Amino acid sequence: MPIDGNAIPYVGIYTLDLFCDQLHEPRVEMTFTGQTFSGCCANARKAGWRIHRATKTATCPSCTRRLRNVARNFAQDREMRRTVR
Ligand SMILES: [Zn+2]
Repeated sequence: MPIDGNAIPYVGIYTLDLFCDQLHEPRVEMTFTGQTFSGCCANARKAGWRIHRATKTATCPSCTRRLRNVARNFAQDREMRRTVR
C-alpha cells in the first residue's frame, strides 16, 4: 500500500482571543481553540461569552449576566412606577 502524505487531512487549529468590551479591571481575557472559527465561537458561547460579530467585540460571562440583570431591573422599575401612578 503506497504511503500518501496527503491522506492525513490537515486539521486547522483556530484560536480566538476574547477581551471583555466592558470597562473593568482586570480586563477579562480568554482564549478559545477549535478546528474552525465558528467552533471557537461556539465554545466561547458555551462558556457564557457573548460575541458581537459586527463590532468584533465580546462581553465576558459576568458582564453578560450583569447587563441582563440591569435590563430586567429597569423593566421592573418602569412597571412599578406605572403601577404607582
Ligand atoms: Zn466583563
